[in-house]
Order: sequence, then structure tokens, then C-alpha cells
Amino acid sequence: MAHLTTPAVFDGHNDVLLKLYRAGGPAAADGFVTGLEGHIDLPRAAEGGFGGGFFAIYVPSEIDLDDKFDQMNQPSYDLPLPEPIDWEDALPVALNQTAILFRLEELGALRICRSAADIRECLNSGTMAAILHIEGAEAIDPELNTLDVLYHAGLRSIGPVWSRTTLFGEGVPFRYPSDGDTGGGLTDHGLRLVKRCNELGIMIDLSHLNMAGFWDVARHSDAPLVATHSNAHAITPHARNLTDDQLDAIRDSDGMVGLNFAVAFLREDGQMADTGIDQMLRHLDHMIGRLGETRVGLGSDFDGAMVPSEIGSISGLPAMRAAMGAHGYDDALIEKLCHGNWLRVLEKTWGA
Ligand code: ZN
Repeated sequence: MAHLTTPAVFDGHNDVLLKLYRAGGPAAADGFVTGLEGHIDLPRAAEGGFGGGFFAIYVPSEIDLDDKFDQMNQPSYDLPLPEPIDWEDALPVALNQTAILFRLEELGALRICRSAADIRECLNSGTMAAILHIEGAEAIDPELNTLDVLYHAGLRSIGPVWSRTTLFGEGVPFRYPSDGDTGGGLTDHGLRLVKRCNELGIMIDLSHLNMAGFWDVARHSDAPLVATHSNAHAITPHARNLTDDQLDAIRDSDGMVGLNFAVAFLREDGQMADTGIDQMLRHLDHMIGRLGETRVGLGSDFDGAMVPSEIGSISGLPAMRAAMGAHGYDDALIEKLCHGNWLRVLEKTWGA
């Protein structure tokens, strides 16, 4: 089978900044150019036809990953959420990871994009396109001064919560089976965050928000509703996935959802164990059926999750394109799923 490196994949979520933060911060950024462990580096991005995506800033909690994986292999599970993180502790980590992204740009590995036109230029020229994104707003202060400063540094997307509770709202735990109805909605700070993001043109990411928070954003935001890396609850009843009602609200707002490659959100049994691309296509079929062909894309979670071994890493994206073609998706749809829909929604959210 031909090695399909086009259309370029523009992707809703990766955690390579966290990987580089753990490897030593900006000084470790050179490794991105020469090659790294894990899912993403520059040489393998070229092999896979990766055009870029949302690069998450994420402040980690100390958790025992082996224990997490063990628990997620039980028939049902409900992992306790880590403790909230104070702004004073979160900000230096967020700045370190932002500096990594700037260092990657300085090295010529990518370009930080502030508009849909920037992303288009990158896709046309073969430069990796990066959106500065925050997953969990612990680094944002209640006055939102950090938000304004980071916006001017290039921030264009934010999730009010990773699953941990923040000043702004509550996220879903890693719970299976469950829906996202696990706690309260956005706080007053959260509502002000939504308003300010709308004013500035910062996309609000619904992935990881609980159901009450989701509906608060739906009521208060004037932008299309977007979940960067979430799947269909109708197939995998995990708290992290979106119910049909939520998908319908995203459709009605003309927003979109990026397919998460994390195996636990793909497999019907919610287990942290390998699964095939066929299971990714089942979620895509369901979401396309609910949202339409223009409101679904990819949101890999590379470097942040266990992904199907048939893909393995960013260099395995050709297998995804080939499978979509073999599944009967035509070229126009594959291009929309790979990057066209992200460009459409970002243009609507940020302005042209
Ligand atoms: Zn995530």
C-alpha cells in the first residue's frame, strides 16, 4: 500500500511540551529536532505527514502511572482526582513549557500560529504549525492578567480544566462506566474566563470539563463549541467521552470534536489496552453521523496517552489515512478530517 503522507494532519492535542519539560525544559528542546522517545519529534513528524496542531501546556500532578494503568484495567474504575494546584506553583511550570515552544520556534522546528491564515501558510510551506494551548487553567490568576499576557505571547486556546478542579470549574475523573455528570458547573471566575476568551478570541476547549461545566460554556460562550480530544460516549461510556446530547449541541453551535487516540476512550470496555484502527473508525462514523462531515477532526493525545499499536506514533499516521480510505471515506472527507475542519472552526473562532 502507498505510504500516504498527505493530506497533512493538523491535530487537536499533543503533550510533547510536557515530555520536553520533564526532559529538562527549553534546554532539552534540541532533542525534538534530532529525535526523541515517545510519540512526537521532528523526523517522525515528516514521515507521518504531521502538519501541526495544538501544543498543550499542562502542569503535571505527581501520580503513580503504573497504579493508574492497573486500575484502568479493572472492569470498572473511578480514579481519585489529584489535588488542585495553586497559581503560584503552576505559573513557573506553564512559563517553562511556553519557553520550550518558543525555543522550538527559534530552532526552526515549528512556527507558533496566531491565526488560521498562519496555519494555512504553514501547511502550504511544510512548516510545522503550533497553537499555544493550555490544558487546565491553574496558571491563570483570578484577575485574568496572566490570560492577557499569554494571549499576547500567542495563546489561542484554553481548557478551563484538565480533570483536576481549578478556580474556574471541575473536570471529569477517569471513571468507567460513567457519563460526565460528576459535579458542579463553572464558578463565577469560570464564567468571566469564558467572557474574556470570547473577547480576546481564545478558543475554549471542552475536553475534560464535566457535564455541568460543558452546558455552562454552551450557554455563555458566543463561539463554536469545541472539544479538542474526546470521543463518543454512545460507543465507549467513559466519563471523558461526549454524550449524543453534547455532540448535538456542538453541531448546533457549528463547532467540532477531535478524535482522541487514547485506547481507554476508544475501547467499548474502557480498558487501558491495545485496540485497532477499526475502533477509531467506529467513533469517527458515530461522530460524523451526529455532527456532520465538517465538524469532526483528529485530536491524537500523542505523548499523553497509550495509542493503538497500529499507529504507534506520529510516523504511523499514514496507516490512519489508509484505513479511512479503505473504510470508504472519499478524498474530500479525509482532507476535512485531517485538517480542513480544524481550519474552518479556528477561522470562525478567531476571525479570519
Ligand atoms: Zn487531555
